Amino acid sequence: MSDVRRFDGRDWETRSYDAALGGAEILSLVCARDGNLIATTHDGVWRLQHGGHATRIDAPVLRDRYILNAREDSRGWLWVALDVGFAVWNGRHWRTLDQTQGLAWNDSNGRGTYEDRDGSIWLITSNGLSHVLHPERLFASALRQPVIEEALRGNGPLPVGDAPLPWRADQIVFRLAHLQFDQGRSWHYRFRLLGVDDEWNDTVQPEVRYAALPGGRYRFQVAAVDNATGEQSAPVELAFTIAPPWWRSVPFYVLCALGVAGAFVALHRLRLRAHRAREDKLTALVRERTHELEQSREEMRLRALKDGLTQCWNRVAMMDIVEREIEKCARSGAGFALVLLDLDYFKRVNDTHGHLAGDAVLVETARRLRAAVRPYDAVGRYGGEEFVVVLPGLNLPADTSRIDALRAVVRGEPVDIGDGNTLAVTASFGVVAFTPGTPPDPVALLGRADEALYRSKHAGRDRISYAD
Ligand code: GH3
Ligand code: MG
Ligand code: MG
Repeated sequence: MSDVRRFDGRDWETRSYDAALGGAEILSLVCARDGNLIATTHDGVWRLQHGGHATRIDAPVLRDRYILNAREDSRGWLWVALDVGFAVWNGRHWRTLDQTQGLAWNDSNGRGTYEDRDGSIWLITSNGLSHVLHPERLFASALRQPVIEEALRGNGPLPVGDAPLPWRADQIVFRLAHLQFDQGRSWHYRFRLLGVDDEWNDTVQPEVRYAALPGGRYRFQVAAVDNATGEQSAPVELAFTIAPPWWRSVPFYVLCALGVAGAFVALHRLRLRAHRAREDKLTALVRERTHELEQSREEMRLRALKDGLTQCWNRVAMMDIVEREIEKCARSGAGFALVLLDLDYFKRVNDTHGHLAGDAVLVETARRLRAAVRPYDAVGRYGGEEFVVVLPGLNLPADTSRIDALRAVVRGEPVDIGDGNTLAVTASFGVVAFTPGTPPDPVALLGRADEALYRSKHAGRDRISYAD
C-alpha cells in the first residue's frame, strides 16, 4: 500500500500512489520545499506530485542501491541514506559519503539525516553519528582535469597549433593520465575530437586512437568523469591542423578542372580538324567531279563538231569556222583562202576495193591534209569525199605554194588500203580568196569555191582552179 494522507488545515485527503510507484511500498516520506513530497521505496527516490503522479529521481549513485530514506535540507540539497553510506545532490552534482570521507561507518542505520540550525548535517550510521560541519565543502573539491600525457602521430610527436601538418595516413594516438589522489573515487575518461565528432565518448582506457584523419582543423578534448556522481571535470584541449591530401587540395582540383577543360578543347579541336578534313575531301571530290564533267562536256562538244571517221571538223563546225574567219577579216582587213577539194573517181575505189578501202583513203587523206597545214589553219570534211581547208592570212594570188603543197600531199605517196595493197589518189581543187572587198557570205564563198572545183573536174581532174 502506498497511500498518502494529506491535511490541508481543515480536511484530510487520501491519495494513492500505487500505480505511479508500481505497487512499491513507501518507506519514508518528507515534505519538499516546492510543496511536493519526497518519498523513498526500497529501490528508488521519488518526487510525489499532488495529482497522484510520481517522478523517479535517478542518478548512477542510486542505482542498484538499497535506499533507506531521503530528505531535503534548507539549501534544497537532497540527502539520501543508502546501504553503503550517503548520497547528496546539490542541484547540480552528486557526492557519495562513506568511511573514505570520514563517516563513522559505510552505511546508514535507516534513521537518515538531521539538519542542525547552523546548516551542518548529522548523518546517522549503524556505527555512530557523523557530523558534516561544512556541507558546502563536499562539492568544493572539483574533479581534477585529466592530462594528455603524449600526443603521437606515427612514431613522432604530434605538432599542435594552427600550422597545417602535411597529410599522412599514420594514426594519431593520445595517451591520457589522471592525477586523482582521492583513491576512493572511481572515474573514467570522456573525450571527443571536434572536427570529426561532436559527441562525447566514454572510456576507461588511457589511450585514444584516430586512424588517417582527413584534412581539417581538429580539437581533441578530454575530461574526467566521476563514476559515482557523473560529475565531469573541465576538459583539457589540444588543437591541431592537418592539410588535406594532395588529391583533395585546391591546386589539385584546379588542375583537374584545367585537365577536363583541356580535354574538352582538345576534343573540340580534334572534331574541328576531322570536320575540316572531311570538308577538304569533299571539296577535292567536287573539284574532281567538276573537272571530269567539264572534260566529258568538252568531249561531247568536240564529238558534235568532229567527223567520226576522219576526226576532221565536220560540216557544221566548218561552216562556223568560215563564218568566224569572215567576221575576223572584216574587222582586221586581212584575208584568207578557202580550198574545196574532191577526191577523183572515188566511187571506183569503193566499187573495186570495197568501202573499207574507201574509208582508209578518206582517213589517210584527212591525216595528210592536217599534217600539211599550220596550227591556225582548219581542215574539215565537207561531205562524202569532199574536204574544205581554211588558210587564214594567205596572200592570193601571189602565194599559191601552200595550195600546191596540199595537192602534192594528196597525190604523193600511194595510200595503204590494207592487205599489202596501195592505191594512188588524186583530188581536184577549187580555191577562193576572201579579201576586204568580198561580201561576207559563207554560202556564196563556198559556192564560188565549188564552181572552181567543178572547173578542175572538167579540165581533167588532179588540178587546182582559182575563183575570179
Ligand atoms: P568524180 O571524180 O567525178 O568526183 O567521181 P567520183 O566517183 O569521185 O564521184 P561520185 O560523187 O560519183 O562518187 C562519190 C562516191 O563517194 C559515192 C559514195 O559511195 C562515196 N562515198 C561517199 N562517202 C563515203 C564514205 O564515207 N566512205 C566510202 N567508202 N565511200 C564514200
Ligand atoms: Mg564528190
Ligand atoms: Mg569525187
